[in-house]
Amino acid sequence: MLLSVKNLEVSYGNIRALHGIDFEIAEREIITIIGANGAGKSTTLRAISRMVEVGPNTSMTCQGVDLLKFSADKVVSRLGVSHVPEGRRLFGNLTVRENLELAAFARKDHEGVKKDIQQVFEIFTRLDERKWQKAGTLSGGEQQMLAVGRAFVSGRKLMLLDEPSMGLAPLLMLRVFEALKEINQQGTAILLVEQNARLALKFAQRGYVLENGKIALKGEAKALLEDPEVKKAYLGG
Ligand code: ATP
Repeated sequence: MLLSVKNLEVSYGNIRALHGIDFEIAEREIITIIGANGAGKSTTLRAISRMVEVGPNTSMTCQGVDLLKFSADKVVSRLGVSHVPEGRRLFGNLTVRENLELAAFARKDHEGVKKDIQQVFEIFTRLDERKWQKAGTLSGGEQQMLAVGRAFVSGRKLMLLDEPSMGLAPLLMLRVFEALKEINQQGTAILLVEQNARLALKFAQRGYVLENGKIALKGEAKALLEDPEVKKAYLGG
């Protein structure tokens, strides 16, 4: 397993957001976690990228090593795990190219970085045309592409994606998901968190349904798409 998470517990003050969930991701796999607002999807990603503390009985291993021994920046630079948070978080005053270079700051393989940035421009030609433009002036969809591009150059092993479809027009959304497929085919595993359950289950190989901080259901994405309860609760009947 690339990532193995056991008994993941996260609390915010007195409020428990995750009640001991288990899941795993194989090398090169695409999995999705779907669930209603507040189910704990973003919290799950924050726990893996070490942005929130986890409970004392939680264990997480990545490529066989204890992920909890790593700080947030080392999870990216040593383990190759990158996180595209909800709402993008770009450096608005820096150019597209500078945003990509900064995302790779912790990497020592400068030639590899150059190649990866070039590849981002090949996948997202819109960004190539705009590489000298300030990120803050990009359209919403272009910013989403740049956020995905940043994750691609910072962590090549596993990408954690929080609602990449949010605010995107259908055509741009398709373009972003096509690019994600391409990135996956080159060897990056993906953990996708989405409100749009149909889209997510079509894209992923396996899925987990999160309800109130617990895994209610899991299985092959195709089977979940056909599951009567999933249909009723998450796919609009
Ligand atoms: P959404 O789809 O609405 O983004 P989500 O499934 O990603 O929801 P989380 O953002 O993980 O859900 O939130 C899980 C629970 O934890 C919610 O009840 C939320 O209010 C709570 N929570 C999240 N962040 C914090 C925080 N910083 N402080 C206190 N409570 C929080």
